[in-house]
Amino acid sequence: MTNKRKGINTICTHVGEVKDEQFKGAVSPIYMASSYAFEDVEVKRYPRYFNTPNQEGLCKKIAALEHTEAALIFSSGMAAISHTLMAFLKAGDHIVFQQTLYGGTYNFAVTQLEKYGISYSFSEGWKAKDLENEIKPNTKVIYIETPSNPLLTITDMNAVSNLAKEKNIVTMIDNTFASPINQNPVDFGIDIVIHSATKYMGGHSDICAGAVAASQEHIDTIWQSSICFGGSLSDQTVWLLERSLKTMALRVKAQNDNAQQMAAFLENNVDIDAVYYPGLKSHEDYNLAMKQMCGFGGMLSFELKEGLDASAFMKALQLIKPSMSLAGVESTMLSPVLTSHALMSKEDREKQGIKDGLIRFSVGIEEVEDLIMDIEQALAKVKLNTVLA
Ligand SMILES: *Cc1c(COP(=O)(O)O)cnc(C)c1O
Repeated sequence: MTNKRKGINTICTHVGEVKDEQFKGAVSPIYMASSYAFEDVEVKRYPRYFNTPNQEGLCKKIAALEHTEAALIFSSGMAAISHTLMAFLKAGDHIVFQQTLYGGTYNFAVTQLEKYGISYSFSEGWKAKDLENEIKPNTKVIYIETPSNPLLTITDMNAVSNLAKEKNIVTMIDNTFASPINQNPVDFGIDIVIHSATKYMGGHSDICAGAVAASQEHIDTIWQSSICFGGSLSDQTVWLLERSLKTMALRVKAQNDNAQQMAAFLENNVDIDAVYYPGLKSHEDYNLAMKQMCGFGGMLSFELKEGLDASAFMKALQLIKPSMSLAGVESTMLSPVLTSHALMSKEDREKQGIKDGLIRFSVGIEEVEDLIMDIEQALAKVKLNTVLA
């Protein structure tokens, strides 16, 4: 065996599998025990210590996928995010968040951090310069999301990691939207990669989990505090996630292809005012996306023509489901104004570029012809009702 990294589908299928020594079955046996024999002080197996056989196997696969030395898996994306932040921040510290942040992370920042004496700033925009502007002498962490939700802005990971390294700041990224198939942030100098495994890693809208990948040193730091907070993942879900990851590269590549075609279709449609997809040449950050992504992902957003009602449009869809979550094999849509950004004032939303007619589209693996037909019939219905109203 050489040290050359294995192909992505081989990693997805094989790395970290738990060998079935007893019966030679083709898949990892599932070890459900929550009590293991005491062997010595160094090896204490316990589910909350992230070290059952299935947990350890899955962590190896995720580390291999993200090109890191180690990984940990959690009971949700928010558990991964909150445990990681709390491992690196203490009273008196400051953190810089990118402005366009996943709603749950934003909520965590504004409702939790102050209680612990941790201060935070949000950048004005998504460029490295915007993040740099918020750095203070006590800044310990910079936290980014690229591509971002819901407008798919792209942040220069190399630029962020360079400015952070100069000042000894730890960089973290929420890599959920890209998935490890389309983007490996540590190759661009980012220290810690976080995923909501509920999304592309799970991929079938039936798992809630989170993951963190980083150097062994950083993972040890997170582990130390995470065993106190206790957000590890149950072995049944670990096993199901391992199974889901076997097809992740196939799924995500199909979603990349479909999203690219859907973006092109929407961009050429007269009833659509704007399309946001990093794989479109018209996207503001297209060149940067080309540089740091190996696929542009399955997420895109678009604006209905002024006057067309987003909620009526979504109700008229027959195949594509209106849905809160994303990244399943089935296509789903969501109106940020009615859901994730409903609590924000219209003025604040528009400052971030989120208009009333904006729709976020999580493109699935269905045939694009069927998706196009569904959108066309829904647009026709909404237009007819708009004319009649
Ligand atoms: C869903 C999501 C999360 C939170 O993950 P949960 O598994 O719901 O806790 C974090 N970041 C992004 C970008 C997400 O889409």
